[in-house]
Amino acid sequence: MGYSGKNFPGSNPTFDKDYEVYGNVPVKGIDYDNFILTSDGLSADVREQALGQLREYEAAQKSHFLGYQANQSGKYDGLSEYLDMHVNNIGDPFVSGNFTTNSKFAERAVLDYFASLWHAKWPCEAHFSDGEKSKDWQDSYWGYALSMGSSEGNIYGMWSARDYLEGKKLTVDDSGTGRAPRLQSVKPRANAANVNSYTPIAFYSQDTHYSIIKNTRILAVTNFHEEALAKKYKCPLSYPSDYPDGYSEHYIENGWPTEVPSDLDGNVYLPALEKLVDFFAKEGYPPLIVFNYGTTFKGTYDDVAKGVAAIIDILKKYGLDERTVEYEDGKTDLRNGFWIHIDSALGAAYAPYLKKLDEFKDLPVFDFSIDGVHSLTMSGHKWIGAPWPCGIFLTKLKYQLYPVDDPAYIGSPDTTFAGSRNGFSALILWDFISKNSVEDLIARIEKGLTLTDYAITKLEEVQAFRAKAYGEPADGLWIEHSKYALTVRLRKANDDITFKYSLSGEELYVKDKVKPLKYSHIYLMDHVTKELLDEFAEDLKAEDAFAPQDAVSAVVGRGRGFR
Ligand SMILES: *Cc1c(COP(=O)(O)O)cnc(C)c1O
Repeated sequence: MGYSGKNFPGSNPTFDKDYEVYGNVPVKGIDYDNFILTSDGLSADVREQALGQLREYEAAQKSHFLGYQANQSGKYDGLSEYLDMHVNNIGDPFVSGNFTTNSKFAERAVLDYFASLWHAKWPCEAHFSDGEKSKDWQDSYWGYALSMGSSEGNIYGMWSARDYLEGKKLTVDDSGTGRAPRLQSVKPRANAANVNSYTPIAFYSQDTHYSIIKNTRILAVTNFHEEALAKKYKCPLSYPSDYPDGYSEHYIENGWPTEVPSDLDGNVYLPALEKLVDFFAKEGYPPLIVFNYGTTFKGTYDDVAKGVAAIIDILKKYGLDERTVEYEDGKTDLRNGFWIHIDSALGAAYAPYLKKLDEFKDLPVFDFSIDGVHSLTMSGHKWIGAPWPCGIFLTKLKYQLYPVDDPAYIGSPDTTFAGSRNGFSALILWDFISKNSVEDLIARIEKGLTLTDYAITKLEEVQAFRAKAYGEPADGLWIEHSKYALTVRLRKANDDITFKYSLSGEELYVKDKVKPLKYSHIYLMDHVTKELLDEFAEDLKAEDAFAPQDAVSAVVGRGRGFR
């Protein structure tokens, strides 16, 4: 019996007025009618028109892409045959499993490469036989290739942190010689002397990526601000002496900063972080601290080594650097009373190469060369330029907790966040590394930084031009740049320019300003050229290039959400 498509309620299963119904501004060059799906499929003509418009639209937007830290210079068409295959790395990367169209061998090569680049102990010795294991095999790394970007790496890091600090049982068994056979969500024995000892408290700076805030919600982890209000604690910081220069009081609520203050360059302000951690450690809480390495908006790098050293010193006073967790069955293990996760979505991809150059020796260290670091994550679609979101999460075997079971169904432990995992992404990362030597990557990051200097020069020219032509202030463009960042910030451009260059925006309270200032930024990723920056600068010379700050923008969104 033929199917007539009559089961669909209207004539078509797709709304035929996208922008009217969903409230979007029509996309230039896209004739939405061509995209309406019908129950009979589309004719070859209509499909061709739709795909033609799609191609032109994406190509045009790609050619002017300046606003986000996504590199558009990827060349992966050598792998296109894998679009016609299902490659799935379901389960643990170190156990191949029964799903044989996987690319776990390539994934493991990629993981080893990054583990070595980030100074972790490699190879991963989880599944070595006893005779092959090194004495300190538990220090070796474990990790996996993400299906999402660093948002997933951040979830996994914070999830591990929560369970570790709540005292859940580790994967490594008590004797330290083998691995526990399966899921053990054994709870620690309550500590009568300290009711807070298994309540992790999150600390992250105000420049932290919104996924971290979302994750505290997903994982039901409380942060210092919430806990302070709930317990009516009095803040150890006084304003303005304990805050960084230029800090706006707007970010203080009920006497407490809502997030850990950062300086105007976007670096976490360590003196404030230390006081906050000290306050909560004294109350017995184990801290979960997220540092940033390549912040989303300002592109800057927290001084992780200095921060971790200071924090460990503080925690030693309260016995939280290392502590014994005791279980109901009387068994114990010794572990840290803190967790440090590094959100290095952007920076982990290129900083290790940059640091090989003498001029960049003072770029902060961020990786497993720092003993107190528990986990880190990197996105594959940012500096590397994968065609879709992907990334890497890395930790150490001794910090690993069995999240769930070891299902016979897939023949591989279900140690990852996702079930099915994108095996194509592992191939993309493998392809990239296999085509680029360290020298190539050093050259690439140097080019990005040179271009950043060029962008600043061009923007300064625009600023001087506008001062002369329109009588704007000499610093009218608000050009700002944090040291070694691949991004330059400026006053928010008008909607046409924002669309043309895919600019992102942020509203920041600065110093004594009562209203937040609206900024745009540009990211100098590998596909950006001098010509593109010249064109951008030309567009910024138009009198109306900058919308009035109080203009209602077509671009929606406010703050970082999930508060
Ligand atoms: C981009 C980014 C992330 C992850 O975002 P995805 O969209 O998942 O890639 C996390 N942290 C920082 C600092 C980022 O810039």
